Amino acid sequence: MSDSPNPKACLACQRDTAVTPLIPLEYRDSTVWICPQHLPVLIHDPARLVGVLPGAENLSPADHHD
Ligand SMILES: [Zn+2]
Repeated sequence: MSDSPNPKACLACQRDTAVTPLIPLEYRDSTVWICPQHLPVLIHDPARLVGVLPGAENLSPADHHD
């Protein structure tokens, strides 16, 4: 059984290191993982992670417009 609260898998797509590199993020005294494909989501559109990342609704997107 895998009951770990922080499985090493992308918080957005749940892929693990068998299929994608994962970047560790220190967050709320624990470590969450995100893949390079979803890192831009965290940076630019964190609201999309509401429901998968606790507190994501409080994160502000990077103020960057091309
Ligand atoms: Zn991902």
